[in-house]
Amino acid sequence: MYSKKRPKKLNNKTLSKYKKINKCRICNSKNLKIFLKFGKMPLAGGFIKKKDLLKQKTYPLTVAFCNQCKETQILETIPSTVLFRDYRFVSSTTKTLSNHFIQYAKTMKKRFLDKNSLVVEFGSNDGVLLKPFNNLGVKAIGVEPSKNISKLAKKSGCKVINDFFNLKTAKLIKKNHGKASLICANNVFAHIDNMQEPMKGIKFLLKNDGVFVFEVHYLVDLLEKFQFDMIYHEHMMHHSLTSLSYLLNLFDMEIFDVLRIPIHSGSIRVYAQNKNIKKRPVKIVVKKLLKFENDKKINHFANLKKFGLDTFRKRNSLIKLINKLKSQGKRIVGYGASGRATVHINFCKFSNKTIEYVVDASHERQGRFIPGMNIPILSPKRFQMDNPDYAILFAYNYFDEVVKKERDFIKRGGRFIIPLPVPKIVE
Ligand SMILES: [Zn+2]
Repeated sequence: MYSKKRPKKLNNKTLSKYKKINKCRICNSKNLKIFLKFGKMPLAGGFIKKKDLLKQKTYPLTVAFCNQCKETQILETIPSTVLFRDYRFVSSTTKTLSNHFIQYAKTMKKRFLDKNSLVVEFGSNDGVLLKPFNNLGVKAIGVEPSKNISKLAKKSGCKVINDFFNLKTAKLIKKNHGKASLICANNVFAHIDNMQEPMKGIKFLLKNDGVFVFEVHYLVDLLEKFQFDMIYHEHMMHHSLTSLSYLLNLFDMEIFDVLRIPIHSGSIRVYAQNKNIKKRPVKIVVKKLLKFENDKKINHFANLKKFGLDTFRKRNSLIKLINKLKSQGKRIVGYGASGRATVHINFCKFSNKTIEYVVDASHERQGRFIPGMNIPILSPKRFQMDNPDYAILFAYNYFDEVVKKERDFIKRGGRFIIPLPVPKIVE
């Protein structure tokens, strides 16, 4: 979502550059404590073309906790020109996400909007939320820095500014359309290196009694479901309600409502308003979730340190299981070429001798390779004809769907291996 206009060609020097932060992205504190080091990893979403195999780069991936605001974040910032140079996540292609945002727009209209309201969404992607707003007769403007993706939104009739959201774009919108009753930002916070920029834009553009609503992947789900495979360079931060409250408070805003949602294996939708006007009472659910986080000790360094150690334990038990099967002469492939697959494959250092190929239904990815370990990505058709012994299901959150689709594989004696929360063969 956050890609700058990309240069035509990135040379080796540009590709290798990255910045290591020494201050928290939210509160600027230098009190950052490391709890997990993956070592050098490629960009998880950078599925690579054959001709580029020799041009690959890897970067350290270090996860730290801020003692001040309690945010977890990775220390390495890869420039967005490199990180999202080939950004291919188009929101509307998944039915689940489209439906989610249709409901989202309806809820917002009912709760906060009237016929004169203006909605602004940053990181508006291909218009997955702008479209339902338009269909409801609500005036909505998107801000999206990725050129190819904002074009898609414009094609379907959405108003989009092709830029980053900051004070400058906020001023432009106000000049042309006035202030916003509602500002939205979904699945975009994790991609932003400097949180001050969009927050300044929000403070300027939002009506005094307006609402700021955003969705982020939730740290509690990451820890509880053991999703260490969601940690990669594209996700610079992992949020809890505690750290988000801290951030909003820095800008005199407060959270008045929150909702846990299943999107991306566990997210939260957060509702915020300006503190001074206290227009809406703070719902009890906010205090409850804050207390829940505190009770679970998810914002305690010792707990995160344990998560870091467990991550290595889980990785080692997956390696052990796979090595055992290989020693028995079994053939193993991967299923689902997502960022998660890249994380597991590189963290475990599985070569294409261990995992012969990874199956994926997306035509965009077929013919490319899992970065780092150079494992080819092939079509499900190829897998169905080939019939290997085992398939590691990297897209394990779609287990039911995949099992239904690949019934023949199981009938013929094939078995899926689930890598998390505990590596196991599904019998
Ligand atoms: Zn901090």
